[in-house]
Amino acid sequence: MANVIHLKALAKINLGLDVIGTREDGYHLVRMIMQTIDLFDWVTIRKRERDGISLRTNLNFLPTDEHNIAYQAADLLKRDFAQIDGVELHIHKCIPVAAGMAGGSTDAAAVLYGMNQLYHLDIPMKRLMEYGLSLGADVPYCLLRGTALAEGIGENLTRLAPMPDCYILIAKPPVSVSTKLVYQSLDALKEPPHPPIDAQIRDLEEQDLNALAMHMGNVLEGVTVPMHPEIAQIKEMMEAQGAIAAMMSGSGPTVFGIFSEESRAYEAKTKIRNSGLARQVYVTKPYNHKEKNR
Ligand code: ATP
Repeated sequence: MANVIHLKALAKINLGLDVIGTREDGYHLVRMIMQTIDLFDWVTIRKRERDGISLRTNLNFLPTDEHNIAYQAADLLKRDFAQIDGVELHIHKCIPVAAGMAGGSTDAAAVLYGMNQLYHLDIPMKRLMEYGLSLGADVPYCLLRGTALAEGIGENLTRLAPMPDCYILIAKPPVSVSTKLVYQSLDALKEPPHPPIDAQIRDLEEQDLNALAMHMGNVLEGVTVPMHPEIAQIKEMMEAQGAIAAMMSGSGPTVFGIFSEESRAYEAKTKIRNSGLARQVYVTKPYNHKEKNR
């Protein structure tokens, strides 16, 4: 029987992000087009005989106790399943942190998915997603992966036609953004422009990459861009370098650009890195759930 499992915990971007209201408990109601990308953390889960949970990461500023959402995921399952004695987690982070790319949520999803396999817990996906939702609104989507519409607080998921093949340039400026603060500040905006989410769903059905990119929009840019004007500068630079369109992901500050040509994406990568506006710059591709499994 295997004692260890290695998993890729994939990041996401939002091709469209709209906020359509607020729930009674203060959570915002969203409509988001979610897309998994081929940029990932490595999550290793190892059984150990000694009771308890241990966690190590390659980034010394991340918590390694119950403040780490991946630790919380392991703790949830350990409480409910007596066959789990001890577990060792190792996370090698590559996804930028506090960047609007669901880095923590995808690590937590990988821990839920991986422990289910490693300990033969036989938890059905629906139940695994319920565990995920108790940790964070993006965790159920990180379990589903691929292209999806997320509604409610992000937990109500509908699979969509896959994103057409393309190159995605990611650039994270060296500032951190608090998701909570961005959503709180959104309420002060008067009539923010709402992105055409339904048009994007049609664009996906028609596999029209140009239209999909042209319809991209993120209502949260109205909050984060004034706080960090370099986001607008990176968007402009990507578009000047041949991106069909560029947009901020989630609550930011990461910017991504959609390219149909690989060479132009790499040229833009060099330009942005040389500008000093972003240090973490990657060319990646959309992840298609039909082509790959975990
Ligand atoms: P989202 O797009 O879901 O808002 P994000 O990409 O903006 O997420 P994360 O990278 O998940 O943000 O980090 C948010 C905060 O969570 C950080 O301040 C970090 O200290 C904390 N954190 C806890 N666990 C993790 C983890 N496993 N990976 C990254 N950050 C974590």
